[in-house]
Amino acid sequence: MNSPIYLDYAATTPVDPAVSEVMMRYLGIEGVFGNPASRSHRFGWQAEQAVELARKQVASLVHCDPREVVWTSGATESNNLAIKGVCEFYRDQAGSYDKKRHLVTSLIEHKAVLDTCKYLESQGYEVTYLKPDEKGIITLEQVEEAVRSDTLLVSLMHVNNEIGVINPIHAIGDFLRKKGVWFHVDAAQSLGKVHIDLTEAKIDLMSFSAHKVYGPKGVGALYVNRHSGIGVACQMHGGGHERGFRSGTLATHQLAGFGMACAVAKDVMVEEEKRLRYFRELFRAQLTSVAGLHFHGDWDLRVAGNVNLGVEGVDGEVLLMSLQELAVSSGSACTSASVEPSYVLKAIGASDAIALSSIRITFGRFTEESEVVKAAQIMEQVITRLRS
Ligand SMILES: *Cc1c(COP(=O)(O)O)cnc(C)c1O
Repeated sequence: MNSPIYLDYAATTPVDPAVSEVMMRYLGIEGVFGNPASRSHRFGWQAEQAVELARKQVASLVHCDPREVVWTSGATESNNLAIKGVCEFYRDQAGSYDKKRHLVTSLIEHKAVLDTCKYLESQGYEVTYLKPDEKGIITLEQVEEAVRSDTLLVSLMHVNNEIGVINPIHAIGDFLRKKGVWFHVDAAQSLGKVHIDLTEAKIDLMSFSAHKVYGPKGVGALYVNRHSGIGVACQMHGGGHERGFRSGTLATHQLAGFGMACAVAKDVMVEEEKRLRYFRELFRAQLTSVAGLHFHGDWDLRVAGNVNLGVEGVDGEVLLMSLQELAVSSGSACTSASVEPSYVLKAIGASDAIALSSIRITFGRFTEESEVVKAAQIMEQVITRLRS
């Protein structure tokens, strides 16, 4: 059997060729393999230069100061550092913060946020989980209603990993800044896809992951606003790297790759958005003759390459089994080992049956038009066969 068509770019992406090329330069004896923290020789200086170039490249994509970029091992760590770090930093502060034990997030966050919030509940924090509207979006009004005088932090994702919808983080940020409530945004799914301008946005912390944007796995960053005065307690103690926010020898090759991935994204973003949007519309148009499809989430307020659809009248497991030619996801990659209906789809009102027979298809940089057409044909054939 041929290799399936890869349509799971929201789970991870292959690295861009420019990324793997630059990473190779920071590994072997011929290259720049030094420890960026070595101050006494050029092996270290060159590695440090590479890391600082990468920091500029990431900062440039999201319009922040390079000094606001803290390297981590990925968005899971960034989310942990942001949420636990803020709670811990303010926990024992005297004055107005010491009674702030309330957090706000949503029901459809990534597990890295939800499980961190669950942990904090066990530590005496109270968490409000906002339920998105049926289109999957958290509104400013909901946040306005949820925020209380003891609210310390609001954590919301920019783009949802399953249904691709985009939250109004600018409006929410403006409101929270006025209220004096800290705001963390998980931007793992929006970096390089949706325009982010951190000089404009009123955001204190933002999480990024390299492997969702054609960079390597195992590396990411947390943006820490230098002007808003946010405090974050480090979660990884050690040599005091990253201005004390996160200790550990920097992974030069990973970071150089992440930086290059951001530089490429900055170049191609606008054009790529158009192409993927065209693919998405084409895919849906090819399926208009198929009845009983539920396209989940707001169709317009979403990242270009995401389609999430539920299929009426077929068994979810049988459907996935029959789509072996397509590398797609049912629900999020992290929960796809279990047969529980997706908590994201449930939260936006899908029935168990529809949630279980839902497929996430995400197009990306290396998707070709012929693959989009083929995928739609296969979907149509399989659905028709399973229903008859
Ligand atoms: C992938 C993802 C994460 C986790 O990122 P890792 O770098 O894989 O740890 C967190 N949040 C969202 C929204 C994601 O899509």
